[in-house]
Amino acid sequence: MNLVLLGPPGAGKGTQAAKIIEKYGIPHISTGDIFRSNIKEGTPLGKKAKEYMDKGELVPDSLVIEIATDRLDRDDCREGFLLDGFPRTVTQAKALDDHLAVKDKKIDHVLDIKVEKEELISRLTGRRVCRNCGATYHAVNIPPKEEGICDICGGELYQRADDNRETVENRIEVYKSQTAPLINYYEKQGNIKHFDGSIGLENLFAEITGLLG
Ligand SMILES: [Zn+2]
Repeated sequence: MNLVLLGPPGAGKGTQAAKIIEKYGIPHISTGDIFRSNIKEGTPLGKKAKEYMDKGELVPDSLVIEIATDRLDRDDCREGFLLDGFPRTVTQAKALDDHLAVKDKKIDHVLDIKVEKEELISRLTGRRVCRNCGATYHAVNIPPKEEGICDICGGELYQRADDNRETVENRIEVYKSQTAPLINYYEKQGNIKHFDGSIGLENLFAEITGLLG
């Protein structure tokens, strides 16, 4: 079961990813995580990536592809994987398809979670994170018992710097313009399915498992 998960920031991808990997026993391959671990372990790929990042430059497609496909070649991906954050561009998607085709594999499903822009803005700007344990709350939807304090550990809750309205709107726009061609690419392949991300996480998960079986 080879899956790609798409969705704008705030769509609830993380929650769905956690539920999917638990149910199907496949690894969650988040590009952010692979980059961090390669850099931490000082692998040759990690060193190359770090050079770009230290200069404040975008890591080129070719290197992103190399790092992602290197991860997909590991044993734990034999029965499938859930990709998150990769591919981001059509070039990456094509390279991924080519890489899988060599092994007689393909992307079985692209799960695209859609949420209205205003809803995303409200979700993200209301988000509060515990400084101590990382638990997340929402000022309106999931408030802590005591304002500003984590229910779990008593730590201080704060708003991440990139969760302010202006930055959030910008992140959503960047996501949209970046993924539109990618969604088109998968539409042509016919393996993409769109989900309404505003129906609640249990309902959404039920729809996803309805497709995956
Ligand atoms: Zn906490």
